[in-house]
Amino acid sequence: MPSLRTLPHELRVFAKYHLKRRVYDYPARETELDIVGLGFDMDAFVASLRGFAGRYESETLDEVRYHDRTHPILCLSSKPAATKRTLVVMGGVHGNEHAGILAVPEILERWQQPQIRLVAVAPVNPVGAAELSRYNAQGFDVNRDFVRFETQEARAVRRLLERERPDFVVSLHEGPQQGTFMFLNRFVTTALAQRLAGALESGGACLATKDYFGRTLTPAGVAAKSRAVRLVEYLWATTLKMKASGAWCEDRGIPEITLESSWHATDREARIRAHVDLVLALGVELARS
Ligand SMILES: [Zn+2]
Repeated sequence: MPSLRTLPHELRVFAKYHLKRRVYDYPARETELDIVGLGFDMDAFVASLRGFAGRYESETLDEVRYHDRTHPILCLSSKPAATKRTLVVMGGVHGNEHAGILAVPEILERWQQPQIRLVAVAPVNPVGAAELSRYNAQGFDVNRDFVRFETQEARAVRRLLERERPDFVVSLHEGPQQGTFMFLNRFVTTALAQRLAGALESGGACLATKDYFGRTLTPAGVAAKSRAVRLVEYLWATTLKMKASGAWCEDRGIPEITLESSWHATDREARIRAHVDLVLALGVELARS
């Protein structure tokens, strides 16, 4: 592979995010992507999740050390009387995509599906969240590590998913595109995704018409898995040993949606709301099916 410095800017950015599992050797902050910060405060966030300990089963899935601090990966699970389905929601696999982390307390607050076991994990990458970094303490992109599992965070997710054997997984992310969209793995039907996109739109979300690779999305807001993408993912996994959580779930027949709101958006409430609306709408769908 040529040195990243010799490539044009766009290719260099693509290479950085898609061809390398480890980009730095520390939780580096992004400075060139114009991410609009949401004033995330790790201690306040942890306190707010711990506040749900009575209503939800609460556990510390793992603890991650960086410098002289230890940060928890928290997991809160609803206690349905009879479980029809299990939904795992992950926030903050990329630590600096804060809307998907900040949405979790509101999801827990507003969850109303007595038959669905909701298991919410956040922040999956707590060092990244605290340090405003996409990466973990060692500079790994956790969402490229679902082949080798070199990161503590990806191993924690794998342990949880193997224990819960969920019927559905949602991973809450943000990206550089305009508007909000969902990546679907191949076990998510387009009909379901369209209904969920409708719920996002009703909540005021602006649906993206292009994903961040520049592909046109039809319908808006929905990035289904094309054959070409499947091929790229296969090559990605076999040659570079890189895989995202959605593809790992796909290998096990588990439907996964990766939600992407725009990190350029300045309306804090709207950015968080898309994540809340998606999970609540999916809860209704799972209860109905
Ligand atoms: Zn992400």
